[in-house]
Amino acid sequence: MNCWKEMHRKEKRPGINELRTYLSANSMDLFEEFAYHLKREYDLSCAPAVYTMNYGWVFRFGRSNLYLIDKIKIIGDSFCIDDICVEDRDSLTAALKLADTLYAEGFGERLKIHSAQKSAAQYERTKSRLEREKKEIESMSSKINKNNFNKYRWSPKISRQKLKTLYENDAKMLQDEELIDDIGFALYARCLQGRDERVLIETGKVRCHNCGKILNYSKGLMECDCGYQYLFRDYMRSFRKNNMPSGSAQHIFNNFIEKWQCAQNYSVKMQIIDELVHEFHINLVTGVKGRFVGINLIEGTKKQIEELIVSLAYSNTYKDSKDNFMHNLKNDRVSK
Ligand SMILES: [Zn+2]
Repeated sequence: MNCWKEMHRKEKRPGINELRTYLSANSMDLFEEFAYHLKREYDLSCAPAVYTMNYGWVFRFGRSNLYLIDKIKIIGDSFCIDDICVEDRDSLTAALKLADTLYAEGFGERLKIHSAQKSAAQYERTKSRLEREKKEIESMSSKINKNNFNKYRWSPKISRQKLKTLYENDAKMLQDEELIDDIGFALYARCLQGRDERVLIETGKVRCHNCGKILNYSKGLMECDCGYQYLFRDYMRSFRKNNMPSGSAQHIFNNFIEKWQCAQNYSVKMQIIDELVHEFHINLVTGVKGRFVGINLIEGTKKQIEELIVSLAYSNTYKDSKDNFMHNLKNDRVSK
């Protein structure tokens, strides 16, 4: 095997995909398990790799620029922490033990102090930002028409009750065509709006939520011919606050958009809705499974939605995928 350092020169930082290509499947599983442990136990994530003279690109795990492990070297087909090279269950256990010890012996405490300082600084920044923004709004107040200012229409999320009813009916072999279209088209509209408006935002544009006209970015008040008015930053904030589907799981939403358009019968529709609500966001750096994408699509708190998704009963048609899903979930939870 080519050496990691030779393959990945200083000029181009490798990400998780390069690591996945380089390591064997077994070693990559161990790496992901290590990453998952640190995430679950301490909320620590894998940061982008940094270059070192001796080992080339190395990985770090931490939070808020504080690193529990600041040098994971890639040597041969393993990842190494200090003198532990992880290549099997035993060495993984040793590495996890080392991480736990480092955390218990001071790192956790340092992180706590660091986080408190950081939130105090953050609080001050937020305070001055809000004051600044208030002044900005005041300076525009003569131009702002409150009835038409920053009014958004985001495609609604679907109700938990409707989704539950769909699954309950399905389990009883009741094919409710009306309900499945109701839910499917609501998901479709929301995914589509998330995708399209994200593209617009990224190119410095917004769509007027009253008349549909595309407006170009301007620093102050953006006014549409129809009389609606927006501030770009508030528009972006509203997009995020409403949890519009986009970001790291974009490919999952796109996949649903494509499939829904040509879903011709009830069972196909059920299958693609089922796939969608059970999908996860994947952390782009570590490859670790995060929250359900259902959170972008279903009404309720994170906890309510997670409970619903885990409880959804499949009919026999989807039993296999349900079994796989529960199996994966169980493995995730017990792989301590
Ligand atoms: Zn308009």
